Amino acid sequence: MVDRDTVQLTDQQRLVRDSIRDICSDFDQSYWREKDVQGEYPHEFADALASGGWFGALLPEEYDGAGMGTEEVVVIMEEIAASGGGFSAAQAVHGAIYNSVPLVKYGSEEMKERLLPKVARGEESIQAFGLTEPNAGSDSTSIETRAEREGNEYVVNGQKIWISRVDASDYIVLMARTTPRSEVEKRTRGLTMFLVDLEDAYAQDGLEIEQIDKTVSGAVHSYELFFEDLHVPASAVIGDVDRGFYQMLDGLNEERLAIAAECIGLGEAAIEAGVDYANEREVFGRVIGSNQAIQHPLAEAHARVQAAKGMVYNAASEAGKATQKDVGVQANMSKFLAADAAFRAADAAVQTHGGFGVAREYDVERYFREARLTRLVPITQQLALNYVGENVLDLPRSY
Ligand SMILES: Cc1cc2nc3c(=O)[nH]c(=O)nc-3n(C[C@H](O)[C@H](O)[C@H](O)COP(=O)(O)OP(=O)(O)OC[C@H]3O[C@@H](n4cnc5c(N)ncnc54)[C@H](O)[C@@H]3O)c2cc1C
Repeated sequence: MVDRDTVQLTDQQRLVRDSIRDICSDFDQSYWREKDVQGEYPHEFADALASGGWFGALLPEEYDGAGMGTEEVVVIMEEIAASGGGFSAAQAVHGAIYNSVPLVKYGSEEMKERLLPKVARGEESIQAFGLTEPNAGSDSTSIETRAEREGNEYVVNGQKIWISRVDASDYIVLMARTTPRSEVEKRTRGLTMFLVDLEDAYAQDGLEIEQIDKTVSGAVHSYELFFEDLHVPASAVIGDVDRGFYQMLDGLNEERLAIAAECIGLGEAAIEAGVDYANEREVFGRVIGSNQAIQHPLAEAHARVQAAKGMVYNAASEAGKATQKDVGVQANMSKFLAADAAFRAADAAVQTHGGFGVAREYDVERYFREARLTRLVPITQQLALNYVGENVLDLPRSY
């Protein structure tokens, strides 16, 4: 086993790590390989986490949650990915842990009391978050999906794309424009968050979904969503009308640290697989790991992954005390470095495997596909750098 205990954990983090390792030990590589190949959501794994109360990790104790914070969630996510489940395993449950955060911060008391205890117990899930649209990815404030007030309701029309886990969710947190862009001073205004009951939306014929055919994360499906005259009650608004974009951003930086932790776990899984193979495979009468050309890329990737890990864990432990801007800086730099490190690790692991690097049986090709994805989502590497350029280096805003 490659030593990846390079950061000092608190007692609570150690407890979390051991509990998650224990759950993950029931889901081996062949489980994740099969889910990827069959394109099946890992319900058994999600149920195991839900029944352990992990979907309530970030929920306050008064709503039956565990009252944990970013410091613990980075451990959960790293462990899930490092267990061999990779980025997909962590992504499969990411929304279940994170999408309730806007409700905790901005939801009405009625909404919180009705839903959060059920989320904490794993009885209801808010796995989907709908922001991206065909004409608005990186430039998210350009979204065109409209929610227009009619009496005590809103009527939603528009289209979303790339929305993950809709098939594994009871609700979607939906971002829509409530005031046209032409009528607001800043493009960040006029957007509102809604909690949409998916079963109700299908029953109304107000929502149709279409699965996107993609080449990565077979177990986690992403969808195109078409809203047509969907009626949602005014009570479904999360937070303040027209201020949804700001309220969505509050918490997003911490979430980005969790994504960075998922990248780290993925990198660790890839290095572990690479090192195992390097120690086993004999070519020219000796194990390939005795060649520096095999050792160095793995060693370099290990150094990069662990360096990024130090940054993520440090930022996670400071997140509660730091300003949002400081957390934002740390989160964007962490996500950039962690995704980059995961990519190099997966690439080194594939190269170490030679031709078997592309055989599904050895899993590194799955890690490689996932590592490529981490450089695109939830924001691209370029957008993370844009943030650093503007907010750390004081360069002109470039987007
Ligand atoms: C598998 C998957 C799952 C996803 N899940 C969700 C989800 O659950 N919910 C959701 O809302 N969204 C989701 N997304 C969407 C994701 O957040 C977007 O794909 C991402 O934000 C990039 O947007 P885009 O694809 O429209 O790329 P674009 O914005 O079209 O960008 C294209 C390229 O141009 C670059 N670029 C654009 N502008 C600049 C600039 N100013 N400077 C430098 N480079 C620039 C980008 O970095 C990128 O490389 C998912 C995407 C994928 C692939």
